[in-house]
Amino acid sequence: MGRRVAERGTEQEPDEDGAQPCVTGAALGDARRRIPRTDAVLKDPRLVAAVGRLGPGTVKTAVRQAQEQARHGTVPPEAVADTAVALLPRTAGGLRPVINATGVLLHTNLGRAPLSAAARLAVLDAAGPTDVELDLVTGVRARRGRSVLQALRERVPSADAAHVVNNGAAALVLAATALATGREIVVSRGELVEIGDGFRLPDLLVSTGARLREVGTTNRTRVEDYAAAIGPETAFVLKVHTSNFRITGFTRAASVRDLAGLGVPVVADIGSGLLAPHPLLPEEPDAAGQLRSGAALVTASGDKLLGGPQCGLILGDAGLVGTLARHPLARALRVDKLTLAALHATLTGPETPTASALNADPRTLTRRAERLACQLRGPGLDVHAVPSAATVGGGGAPGVTLPSAALSLPEAWASALRTGPVPVVGRIESGRCLLDLRAVPEEDDALLAEAVRTAARARR
Ligand SMILES: *Cc1c(COP(=O)(O)O)cnc(C)c1O
Repeated sequence: MGRRVAERGTEQEPDEDGAQPCVTGAALGDARRRIPRTDAVLKDPRLVAAVGRLGPGTVKTAVRQAQEQARHGTVPPEAVADTAVALLPRTAGGLRPVINATGVLLHTNLGRAPLSAAARLAVLDAAGPTDVELDLVTGVRARRGRSVLQALRERVPSADAAHVVNNGAAALVLAATALATGREIVVSRGELVEIGDGFRLPDLLVSTGARLREVGTTNRTRVEDYAAAIGPETAFVLKVHTSNFRITGFTRAASVRDLAGLGVPVVADIGSGLLAPHPLLPEEPDAAGQLRSGAALVTASGDKLLGGPQCGLILGDAGLVGTLARHPLARALRVDKLTLAALHATLTGPETPTASALNADPRTLTRRAERLACQLRGPGLDVHAVPSAATVGGGGAPGVTLPSAALSLPEAWASALRTGPVPVVGRIESGRCLLDLRAVPEEDDALLAEAVRTAARARR
């Protein structure tokens, strides 16, 4: 491998990124002999410290990559240690933090909701031994997650009880398994949705051993359709929020309030985890509202509009929640202490980044974009501020656009922005790369500007 690379190097071809070797011919051969050995590089105090922080494998990989660059002639042999240090990841986590400049607030590929500073601190604190299942006063075992369940019920007083599982899909699976295995779930044909990445709600429900009793049509379902289908086999009526598409035109759907009078429990999958109504999202159902309208159970995700960690919320009737929480499957779907800590901080802490992005004043976004464009503009920097339209994304508020502002850059910069030291993910629109500011916290503006400068240098 080393040999092949060396041969390629002597041909003085540009390497994969198009960078020209900085030394050539005989000089390159001489430089190659001066490349320090791995064990010598690993004695650099910065790399010794990095082994303690990141583990030996990661550091060795960075050293090998740096040696490889020296072999190509793209860095001088004396700079191998510096290059290895620069190549080290920030943490051993295997995931890289990125700036979400897509204008999609809850971007599935970027991990949906970013945690608040309060939630991040809570996660760090809970990482060691913690009182997750112990009452420190009495010294006896205590209910796991009791503080977070209390916080949930304080935020949604219309819920008699609450339970937390791994994600929204797990909440539905648990409800279907505990209440409907071998029985029927009555659901509208207009609500048999695909969540994303090929996951289809009907398949998920059927996998529990429940039978789906589909009623109505794609565009129109009446209360009478449900009423006619309900019988001794019915476990519950399921009302699914069509969170990632909209049907318009000749449509009709029964509300939870209509369905609550049918004599069987109504389970409402609201998707987004909005606990109370939001003025900007009038079409988005909220947990408190659905329970007040008569839903027996509400299921939702924790990492959508609630702005917390990935988890699934189950709220509602104490008897039903208890049945779910005591079912053997609940143990397989339970969340870890880090999730419990992050969720508690999300519920009780300051405004989440998701809420800040949602509530951001478009005029402030425009001012930020103009200020950034002004700082960045200069020779070779084709940057200007433009109006933009952001979306909620992540399976929430379909069709809602949020007025926003963006930096407009040449389309070709997108790749350099993604692969720079601080990765920035924008979106391509009409042949330009837009960096939408709505999902970028204002305190990241300086980082964003630096990332654009670095990308511009890389393109030259
Ligand atoms: C997002 C969503 C789900 C799935 O939730 P996850 O947390 O992604 O598992 C289920 N139902 C609806 C309506 C959703 O919007």
